[in-house]
Amino acid sequence: MTAAGLVDVAVVGAGVIGSSIAHHLQIQQTTTIAFDSIEPARRAHHSASANSGGIIRAVHSRPEETMLTIASSRAYRHIDATLGGAVSYTEAGFAFITDHSHRRAVLDRIALMRSLDYPAELLDAMQLGRRWPEISWRTNDIALFEPASGSIDVSGALTAFQHSLIAHGGEVTPETVTGFAPAADGHWVVTTDDENEYHATTVVIAAGPHTTELLRTTRHHELPATPTRLGVVEIASEHSRGGIPHGLSFIDDITGGYAISRPEITYLGANGRVSPTDSQSTLTDGEQDAIRDTVNIRLPALHAAPTAGTRVGTDATTSDGRPLIEQLEPNLFVCSGFSGGGAKIAPEIGRLTAQWVLTGARPELLSRYAHSQDDAHATPVFSYL
Ligand SMILES: Cc1cc2nc3c(=O)[nH]c(=O)nc-3n(C[C@H](O)[C@H](O)[C@H](O)COP(=O)(O)OP(=O)(O)OC[C@H]3O[C@@H](n4cnc5c(N)ncnc54)[C@H](O)[C@@H]3O)c2cc1C
Repeated sequence: MTAAGLVDVAVVGAGVIGSSIAHHLQIQQTTTIAFDSIEPARRAHHSASANSGGIIRAVHSRPEETMLTIASSRAYRHIDATLGGAVSYTEAGFAFITDHSHRRAVLDRIALMRSLDYPAELLDAMQLGRRWPEISWRTNDIALFEPASGSIDVSGALTAFQHSLIAHGGEVTPETVTGFAPAADGHWVVTTDDENEYHATTVVIAAGPHTTELLRTTRHHELPATPTRLGVVEIASEHSRGGIPHGLSFIDDITGGYAISRPEITYLGANGRVSPTDSQSTLTDGEQDAIRDTVNIRLPALHAAPTAGTRVGTDATTSDGRPLIEQLEPNLFVCSGFSGGGAKIAPEIGRLTAQWVLTGARPELLSRYAHSQDDAHATPVFSYL
């Protein structure tokens, strides 16, 4: 067994969330080590960040997510501008499709976005048909269009955060954390399956779907987050050309279908069409058909396009979709439960969590995620939170 010197913070899990937290800590001269397991059961086809669709959209049921996404969208575009397209941000926009009964809710979201200098507009079925004739529209449709939103390459974002962490003197180590316990002098001793010991003043657990089990077995904390399987169907761009407006991503809150148009590939997904507990690392034929049938309602010309493959990952999911960002013990934090939507807010979640760790004061936006709050069970306005 080897023991490394004392670092300020150990981050367990270096998906897009843990990498963002570690990057934000290290750039403030806080010595940080991030652990990322290379065990197949924890990584590769199972990692949410490595298989994410990467939609960036500001419209949400809850205003805090709009605020977090707008700041994160700006951060991602800044990374692209300074690192030569490292996250490959598409800027053809994002459309949230709903119907007239949600007109008031959509106008409220547009007002919030505009108050934050983020462009957004309401389009009716006639305008939508003129702008995007590839999509099938119904007379009752409306859409909230965000021209500055779109999608990113989540693996690229994760890599950019890790490169920055290392460039500023931090470390990413490919080891699986098996335990952590407080030492007599107050710091934490983190142990790994390589039988190494690391000493850290603070520990942040950002181990995605493994967080619940890790905290239960090491510290007897019970977290209300469950591993949930998610997946998308891939269509090569050469086959989707003409079938989907170039670069546009959309969510259809009526059918549950969505499409993410990346430069080389289009991802198709649909709410509730993937078995959440299956262990398969690809989508079954039945799951692929269910997704494609749902999206074909909007994109009929994609009907004949062959499936190029599927992407499947497991994300920690909470019953109300809100992440778990908590201080569990002195100098022990958890940041997990992103419920299928963590990529779009990762920069800002990383910045605010780092701020909490460094100052000891919970940032106001993160306080809204406190699970004791009364509004936790408020009925969401949209199906896609
Ligand atoms: C198919 C799919 C589509 C998605 N689409 C979108 C989208 O369009 N927009 C969006 O915003 N979000 C989307 N998401 C969700 C988003 O990708 C996740 O919310 C986000 O990636 C979660 O990141 P994370 O860092 O919390 O978890 P993870 O990516 O799971 O990272 C956790 C890391 O912890 C490591 N780890 C676990 N246990 C240990 C241990 N004991 N020791 C060391 N390391 C450990 C793992 O190796 C892993 O790398 C999608 C997800 C999937 C699967």
